[in-house]
This record gives sequence, structure tokens and C-alpha cells, in this order.
Amino acid sequence: MAHGCSPHVATILAANCATAERDGSTSHGLFRMRHYVSTLRSGWVDGRAEPVIADAAPGFVRADAKNGFAQIALAEAAPLLVQKARTNGIAVLAIRQSHHLGALYLDVEPFALQGLVALTVVNSIAVVAPHAGSRAVYGTNPIAFAAPTADGAPLVFDQATSTAALGDVRVAQQAGHDLPYGAGLDRAGQPTNDPAAILDGGALLPFGGYKGAAISLMVEILCAALVGANFSFEVDSSAYPGAKTGCTGQTIIVIDPAAGSDGLAPLPARVSTLVAALQDAGQTYIPGGRRLIARSQPSAPIDPAVWTELRSLLPA
Ligand code: NDP
Repeated sequence: MAHGCSPHVATILAANCATAERDGSTSHGLFRMRHYVSTLRSGWVDGRAEPVIADAAPGFVRADAKNGFAQIALAEAAPLLVQKARTNGIAVLAIRQSHHLGALYLDVEPFALQGLVALTVVNSIAVVAPHAGSRAVYGTNPIAFAAPTADGAPLVFDQATSTAALGDVRVAQQAGHDLPYGAGLDRAGQPTNDPAAILDGGALLPFGGYKGAAISLMVEILCAALVGANFSFEVDSSAYPGAKTGCTGQTIIVIDPAAGSDGLAPLPARVSTLVAALQDAGQTYIPGGRRLIARSQPSAPIDPAVWTELRSLLPA
């Protein structure tokens, strides 16, 4: 709030950051607070924005985040989105003029906890080259998916569509580690696994070669062309030093698996059957396991260095 957020916005973002930290997603936990603050202080994002929600069609909600954070628009639109999904079997939320600096699974897990299947995508800033390209066009463009299970917490996966999330490239640079081979390109468009070369005018690559590149392409279309927002390559925050976000878009698709399902096996049971088959085949780690383990344990104390930094962000 001291850096320009309304109490409503600050409450949502604080809960988002704290939950990611508690869940072990530290790259999008308290560590990000400095980026929220620098982005707010730059004037690039509006911490007091009040989103406008529009009932666009029976299965379609549009939200204008008004240059605020996407999570605020999602919180405002979620009740209408769920109501439409329950009525129609499926509903889409298209958020435009929005900024996203969080872990994406937090945007879909609540729907699965209500028995719904949810998929979301968000585009960001151009740091990923297209397949066989030499300069960045795509964002790291994460995808998160959540489905209810029969025997406990929802199944959730959440992944960037680049070889690495940008935060991990920065962490590798600070730690002096190379990234895996094939992670990116240097400023001359040559392959490199040096995080410094990637960050210094180079680019990351999509995961999975041309197949991953097509997924990143789809994310751009769903988050920008569909919603009426910037493509990642159109974001220009150069007049706002300290800005760490893209002003782009986000799309969320929510499906009610109960629609017309009389006589069919319930989806949660089917998801659990699949997970059991994966485990039986030798998969020891099921996506989302990290957060479940973290939640089952007492919260760890905040890292003293992170706490000191948080304190330093408070105005004198
Ligand atoms: P990871 O590569 O760490 O993990 C991707 C997914 O794979 C996760 O669901 C993870 O589970 C799962 N996983 C990890 N290891 C294994 C394994 N050995 N076997 C099976 N599954 C596994 O994530 P990313 O680095 O791609 O992304 C990190 C975060 O960054 C995400 O939360 C993402 O939303 C965020 N991000 C946000 C952006 C934004 O603009 N807001 C941009 C880009 C990324 P688990 O969840 O349990 O770790």
C-alpha cells in the first residue's frame, strides 16, 4: 500500500505471494516483492486499478484490468465465470490490459477445489525466440492446468513454455551456473547455455523444439489476439525504468465435468485412475507434489535475507 496499491489490491497480491512462498514456489513468492514494488514505483502498473467485468456471451466473460494486476480482475470475474461454467458446461474469461508477476497455478487451483477443470495461459515480455529464429518474440508464456481428483488435492501442473522461467535464468546467473544445453541464444543468435549471454541481448528458446514453439504461439493468440491485448513483442516499458511486467493478457477456460455426465464415470475418479497408472509405471513425482509436501509441513521461517529485504522496501 505504501507504494501505491489500494488495500483491496494489496490484500490479493500479498495473499498470492505468501501462498506461493508457503508452497515452495519461492521464485514467485516473497522474492518477487521487490519486483512488484519497482514496477509500481515506475508508474508502469496501476495498483489502484478497478477492473471492469463484461458479460460478453453465455459462455464468455471479458475483463479489462485497466492496467492493473491480472489477479484482481480474476478475483472480480470468478463468480460470474463459475456461474457460466455451471450453466453452460464451459466458460472463458479473457482478461486484457493486465500484468502478471505470479505463479500461475494459484489462478486455477481454486476452480478445481470447486470440482471444475481449469486451464489458464498468460503472455509476458519478449524473451523467447521462435523455433529457428534468432531474436525474442514470445514471452515465457506459462500454462497452468488443474483438475479435481477423487482422493484429495487437485492435480495441478504449472510450467513456462520456455526452456526455463526468466527468474531461473537470473538465479543461475547470480549463482554462476550454466543452464542446460540448448536453453537459449546469445545476442548473435548462436546457441548458448550461459545465462548472462541469454540475458544480455540474447533469448531463451521454447521447450521441446518446434512442438513447444507452437504451444507458445497458441498462448500468444489466446492472451493477446483473443482478448485484445499486447503480444509479448509489442510490450514497451522502456519509459518506465524498474518495470518488470508486461502489460498483456490472460485467458482462463473453466469446464464443469458434471455437464451431461449422467451414466459416465466421474472425472475426479478417472483422474485418480490415471495418476495411479502413472505411479504404477514408475513416475515417482506427480506435478504439484511440491506444494502438497510444503503444505503438509509447518511453515518454514522466512529466510533472514528475504525478511531484511522486505523490511527495506518499507518507507522510512
Ligand atoms: P518447473 O519447470 O519447475 O515445473 C513445471 C511443472 O513440472 C510443475 O508443475 C512441476 O511440479 C512439474 N515437475 C517438476 N519436476 C518434475 C518431475 N521430475 N516430474 C514430473 N513433473 C515435474 O516450472 P517453470 O520453471 O516452467 O515455471 C516456474 C513458475 O514460474 C510457474 O509457477 C509459472 O507459472 C511461473 N511463471 C510465471 C510467469 C508470469 O508471467 N507470471 C512467466 C513464466 C513462469 P511442481 O508444481 O510440483 O513443481
